[in-house]
Amino acid sequence: MDTQSLLEEIALEARGLLGGGRVADYIPELARVDPDRFGMALCRPDGEQCSAGDAEVPFSIQSISKVFTLTLALQIAGDKLWQRIGREPSGSAFNSLVQLEQEQGIPRNPFINAGALVVTDVIGSRLRDARGKLLEFMRGLCGNDGINFDEAVAQSEQSTGHRNAALAHFLRSFGNLENAPETVLDAYFHQCALAMSCIDVARAGLFLANGGVLPSTGERVIPAPMTKRINALMQVCGTYDSAGDFAYRVGLPAKSGVGGGILAVLPGHFSLCVWSPELDASGNSLAGTRALELFTMRTGLSVF
Ligand code: GLN
Repeated sequence: MDTQSLLEEIALEARGLLGGGRVADYIPELARVDPDRFGMALCRPDGEQCSAGDAEVPFSIQSISKVFTLTLALQIAGDKLWQRIGREPSGSAFNSLVQLEQEQGIPRNPFINAGALVVTDVIGSRLRDARGKLLEFMRGLCGNDGINFDEAVAQSEQSTGHRNAALAHFLRSFGNLENAPETVLDAYFHQCALAMSCIDVARAGLFLANGGVLPSTGERVIPAPMTKRINALMQVCGTYDSAGDFAYRVGLPAKSGVGGGILAVLPGHFSLCVWSPELDASGNSLAGTRALELFTMRTGLSVF
């Protein structure tokens, strides 16, 4: 079966799970999303692209943005970044405060919120217009100048994100935030509020499946060994504290977001983005995870 038909078949099957999960509602604006959406897009380094369902509808990428800000921070700071952030799965909620206190303000990994705030801080210390630069970076990666921040989502999170504000102040109290918490939070809420479609996200993540090079332009985004490391981090920390179950079922490095999107990559082969807003108990897209599982089962393609 060709990939296009396979995606359509999987989309149909995964849609059967709609109604079984819950849309994230702790960010009020996200609760307004249509729960029945389902999209899927796959890109290969040779330029092949297939998609099914609502693959062209922009959604809030939320924590998927953490992969791209990590890439920028590694470009800026290289391995020095690891003096301020760990590389282990957290085993606790992505917005937990307790672990941060126990571990003296060094977040376990760059994909929990505390780690992502430090990443955003690193970018903000180096680049004057960090928000603008991130947008430019993302537009370049996906080749779509039309993508933008969803201001309503950013404002919604800004006005209700007390836990993230607490994390930022906490980091600052440990000396692990160089910029004002308000400045870092503003950049962080905007990166989470990037609105992109499955096709945009799959295209943006393709360098991770292509040794760090953007296939469309031949431009090197990061050195190949960094790609291996980002993929490794996605594998062990990219899907909240169910990364083990996700690896067991799907078998691909991936990063999910509470908007219901998941970016997964198979190095050397493809990048794949699914979106379905209803989440499972651990915060990953319910139908999206199932769709990825079906894809790796039916194609036999996974890192394992
Ligand atoms: N903006 C969300 C938050 O900080 C992102 C969380 C997520 O997608 N895991 O709470």
